[in-house]
Amino acid sequence: MTEETVSFGYEDVTPQEKTRRVGEVFTSVARKYDIMNDAMSAGMHRLWKDKFVRRVKPQPGEQILDMAGGTGDIAFRMADKGADITVADINQEMLDVGAERAMEREESERAGSLVFTCQNAEEVSFASNTFDAYTIAFGIRNVTFKDRALKEALRVLKPGGRFYCLEFSTVEWPGLREAYDVYSDKVLPRMGQAIAGDADSYRYLAESIRKFPPMPEFERMIRDAGFANTKVEPILGGLVAIHSGWKI
Ligand code: SAM
Repeated sequence: MTEETVSFGYEDVTPQEKTRRVGEVFTSVARKYDIMNDAMSAGMHRLWKDKFVRRVKPQPGEQILDMAGGTGDIAFRMADKGADITVADINQEMLDVGAERAMEREESERAGSLVFTCQNAEEVSFASNTFDAYTIAFGIRNVTFKDRALKEALRVLKPGGRFYCLEFSTVEWPGLREAYDVYSDKVLPRMGQAIAGDADSYRYLAESIRKFPPMPEFERMIRDAGFANTKVEPILGGLVAIHSGWKI
């Protein structure tokens, strides 16, 4: 009997190996993660995250789970709107950087609370029907069993709750697609080496983007998990996409 394998970038590995190696990637990049995001996207990730949070429309007093929340970029934006945010991530080093940033940040008077907790998206410790919204930004790509994570998202949402996912996707604009391929294959790993001293982690990043299902397929996965009224909004021809769905 052949053992089940999943993709870690372009390699096929066992599920346990994938989870372990994704862990290594984020442990390795945690301290340089924020600076690398600015360098790699020329600051554009900030605009994508702003747009994402505008779509989520966090409201004062809402309970929102920001899964794979890492160093807190999405969580801080949502807390600034007055929502109470639980930042969950499988990687303690990423959460530690997030918690340090939370201490340093100047929050407005109406900012909601922030809690950091180490969790695997595939098996979340929260009770069913807990959250008004579930967000996951640049995270689901790294999860070993995406279908399990989507089912858990549905479970922890209250009826009427909303799911929002921001993720790199498949560039559909000719010209941009070719340029992006060269950029991610050649430039990204070199940038990772120069800034974070880590080419391999950024090679994994590029490969994991290529391996991620195209927009209609991922939307179908969200529907299959049980979400209704699913929608996908491509940004820059699909370089990044916002997927959403509702628990009814
Ligand atoms: N959401 C943050 C942002 O947009 O800046 C961080 C995104 S970072 C690219 C991906 C995060 O996913 C990492 O912090 C990693 O530890 C987390 N992650 C990977 N697999 C996970 C899992 N199974 N459960 C929870 N978090 C996971």
